[in-house]
Amino acid sequence: MLWVATLPITCVWARKPKPAPEPEPEPVVVEEVDTLEVEENDDFESLTEGLPAGVLSRLMGDTLFVSCGKDELPRFLVVMTEDGECQYRLMPDMLWGDTSNVHPADSIYAVWMNTRVNPYQTPVDSLKDSIPVNLNGFVYPLKNLTYVTSKFGFRRYRFHYGTDVKVQVGDSLRASWDGQVRIVGWDPRGYGYYVLIRHDNGLETIYGHLSRPLVEENERIYAGEILGLGGNTGRSTGSHLHYEIRYLGNAINPETIVDFEKGTLRVSEDYVITKKGTFKHNEEVKQLKQAQYHKVRQGDTLSGIAKRYHTSVRTLCKLNKIKETSILRLGQKIRVR
Ligand SMILES: [Zn+2]
Repeated sequence: MLWVATLPITCVWARKPKPAPEPEPEPVVVEEVDTLEVEENDDFESLTEGLPAGVLSRLMGDTLFVSCGKDELPRFLVVMTEDGECQYRLMPDMLWGDTSNVHPADSIYAVWMNTRVNPYQTPVDSLKDSIPVNLNGFVYPLKNLTYVTSKFGFRRYRFHYGTDVKVQVGDSLRASWDGQVRIVGWDPRGYGYYVLIRHDNGLETIYGHLSRPLVEENERIYAGEILGLGGNTGRSTGSHLHYEIRYLGNAINPETIVDFEKGTLRVSEDYVITKKGTFKHNEEVKQLKQAQYHKVRQGDTLSGIAKRYHTSVRTLCKLNKIKETSILRLGQKIRVR
């Protein structure tokens, strides 16, 4: 067995330019590397003869990487040493996280991981300006229509990255599109029991506060299939479904895509994610991260607080959605910037 650390093959995955993922991907295990002797006059073409159609090749320094089309794992590697010698290596078994090797939207995502909700760490700024996403085949997660209990966006001192919909404990919840289950998790202070699915269309959805997940990690799942039962686990008061839609780890307001009153898509199936439109809330998130609060004490007034933090009463009213005449409560947190 040979660990990948001894082989410079990481760039085999550089099929398309994409942002470099920060976290370490799952270790890639290369088993049984066959080395073919290369004759003196062998050239690239004769070496790569017989490779499957759609072969991509890339010259990186003195190492030539050859990989298959996007639906197949690279299995061939030609290493050229400095003095011009070549070695033709065949890699029969490459493990990438789990053994199935191919995952939905592999051309978008560099990592398949069963542990972290957002292992991609791809900031919105680094995305393309517009990204087409095919929403065909959408199935609303609930069988019966209920109502939204909490919207995507600001919530007191933090950002709520999903839409909450009323469910009863035990209600069946269904996958929105075809895909593969990436995480079946337990997050006692947040999602509770949750399921995260990577869809073929490039989106990921999260279903939180389940009473019971009914799928397993790495399992293939189709739109409309039951993934778990609604519940009230984790940080939740009252049974509801916390539903998130993400692209490369970046949350999208689900209500911009799904009409929760009708249980249908709100947009056309040929949807386009735009950096400026779809992720416009990111500016608010950035500001929220820089937000500063003042805890109201005896004798505090709005004008006093404004003076202390070198701001105006008007700004304080706007930031806190209060009026100049509002009465401050002791212990109340006033956002000052
Ligand atoms: Zn929620």
